[in-house]
Amino acid sequence: MRFALALIVGKCIAVLGAFTNRATNIPGEIALKICPDLFKKFKFKGKVLAVTGSNGKTSTSNMVAHILRQNGKTVAHNAKGSNLLGGIATTLLTHSSLSGNIPQDYVVLEVDERFSRLIFKDFSPDYMLVTNLFRDQLTRNGNVDVIIEKLHEAIKPSVKLILNASDPISAMLAPENERVYYNIERTSHSTEKSINITHDAKVCPKCYHKMNYEYFHYNHIGQFECSYCGYKTPEAKYMFTNVDVENGDFMFGEFKIHTEYKSVFNIFNIAGAVSACCELGIKPVDAAQAASKFKLMKERYDEMEIGSRKAIMILSKNQNPVSFDQSISHVLDIEGDKTVVVYVGNINHTHNRDTTWLYDISFERLRDDVSSVVCIGPRAYDLAVRLSLAGFKSEQIEIERDINKIKPVVAKTKGTICIMTELYDAKSVLEVLTR
Ligand SMILES: [Zn+2]
Repeated sequence: MRFALALIVGKCIAVLGAFTNRATNIPGEIALKICPDLFKKFKFKGKVLAVTGSNGKTSTSNMVAHILRQNGKTVAHNAKGSNLLGGIATTLLTHSSLSGNIPQDYVVLEVDERFSRLIFKDFSPDYMLVTNLFRDQLTRNGNVDVIIEKLHEAIKPSVKLILNASDPISAMLAPENERVYYNIERTSHSTEKSINITHDAKVCPKCYHKMNYEYFHYNHIGQFECSYCGYKTPEAKYMFTNVDVENGDFMFGEFKIHTEYKSVFNIFNIAGAVSACCELGIKPVDAAQAASKFKLMKERYDEMEIGSRKAIMILSKNQNPVSFDQSISHVLDIEGDKTVVVYVGNINHTHNRDTTWLYDISFERLRDDVSSVVCIGPRAYDLAVRLSLAGFKSEQIEIERDINKIKPVVAKTKGTICIMTELYDAKSVLEVLTR
C-alpha cells in the first residue's frame, strides 16, 4: 500500500516537475520518505547495470544507454547524472508500473561511488562497470581507501564486475566476484614517467610496496606490475588497439571506432561502455558501430566563437584534480596561441573552504604552453598563488574576482580562449563572455 502510494505521489511530482526541469531528485526523495524500502519492491524484467567510478561515469553510462537503444533495446536510465538515492529512486519509479514492474530490456544506473552501498542495500545490479578510482573531492569523500570500503559494501557476491585493467585500484575490487576486464593499448600520449602530481597508486594497493609502471596513460592509469607480490595489469577480455588519439580512431577487434572527443580518457570511457554492452549481449560489431555515432553532451565540451576568437569550453569536476588534469591535456593538444580562463568559484558548494586540491592539479604543464591564464571567481587569488608556485610569470596571470567584469580582462589576452571550469559555473562564464 505504502509502495503504491509512494509510486503515485512520486510519478505525480515527476510530471509536475518536468516543466521546471528540477524533477530529477525530488520525486524519488519524497517516495522514499513515504516508503523507505521502495527499492526492495521493484521487479526488473531486464538486466540491471550500475556504472560507477570517480571520473567518466556520466558519459560512460550515457554511452551504454545509447548503444543499447541503437540496437533496438528499451532502456531505463538516469541520463542527467542524478546518481544519489533520490535520483535513482526517481528513475526507477518513473519507469515502473503501479505494481512495481520495470519492463525495459535494460536498466542502466549511473551511481555515486560513495552512495552505492545505500542505493544497493535493498536491491542489487546484475553487472557493475567501474571506470576508475581516484581521489575526488577529498574533503567530502575521503581518500581512495574509504571509497573502496564503501564500494565493497555495495557489491554483492552475485554482481559481475566490468573493470578497467589499467587502473590498479579499481581492478582489484571485490576479488571473489566474477569479472571481466577491458583495456586500451599504449598510445602516442603514453609516458614512461608520471606527468601528474595526482598519482593515487605509487604503492601497490595489495601489498603496499612500490608499484612499477611500464608506462602511464594518464595519472595512475597504466601498465603496472608490483615486483613484490606480483600484482600486475590483468589480462583484458576486451582489448582496444591501434589507438590514434589525434584523429579519434581506434580498433575493437576488427571493428573501427571513431570519436569526435579525442582524448585517451574518453577512449577509456568508450572502451568501458562497449565492453559492458558486449557483456549485456550486444554483438561487438553492433556495439562498435553504435559507439561511433555517440555525441558527447554539448554541456561537457563545446566549441564556439567569442567575438572573432575561437573558444572552447571544457568542463571539469569540482574539487577533482584528475578531471582538471584531463582538461589541461586537452588544452595542450590545441595548436597556436591560447589563453586559459579558469573559474574556481563553487568551491564552497559543499560549504567547503578547502583549496588544497588546487595543489593536486598539474598546472605546471600549462606554464610554457599558454600566453596567459585568467583567474576568475571568488577563489581567483588562491588560484593565482597556485600558478605563481607553478612557475608562471606574473605577466601571464590575470585576476578578476567579479565574473561580471571579466570580458575586458579576457579581451586583453590573445589566441584561442579555453574556458576551464565546472558544471555549475560554466553557464555564467559563457553568458558574460558572449554577452
Ligand atoms: Zn604488491
